[in-house]
Amino acid sequence: MTILKKRKARAQRSRSFRCPHCGAAMILRPASEIYHDAKSDRKLYVCHNYPACNTYVAAHPNTDKPMGVPANGNLRNLRIQAHRKFDLIWKNGIMTREEAYRWFADSFGLSLRDAHIGMCSEYRCRELIRLCNEVLARNNCVA
Ligand SMILES: [Zn+2]
Repeated sequence: MTILKKRKARAQRSRSFRCPHCGAAMILRPASEIYHDAKSDRKLYVCHNYPACNTYVAAHPNTDKPMGVPANGNLRNLRIQAHRKFDLIWKNGIMTREEAYRWFADSFGLSLRDAHIGMCSEYRCRELIRLCNEVLARNNCVA
């Protein structure tokens, strides 16, 4: 690919990819600029209005595609909480990891492809935490 074509492809990508919280363009930046960790060589899509708008999402190392839907601080914390609860289900052997993702997908009427906590909204995170707590309680696991 020529440099010009690459530049055009990048411009098209950034045009179609906006911050879900404020509508500004999402810009690919080194993660080290956000995490202040010089060792990180990963990249993030960061809202143009960062840090006023604290919204970002990790990029896949090879393709630069965003890993899920960008999140602000609240949603990031909720996703971390939801993931911890969800992981307890298969770590405690209530289900296998595969079964747990199938259960997650079925609970929300999603395809298995879309059953990723990185794609969950706040509402879905809270629902998933609630469902996980129920399953954990029924199996006498401390949630
Ligand atoms: Zn934003």
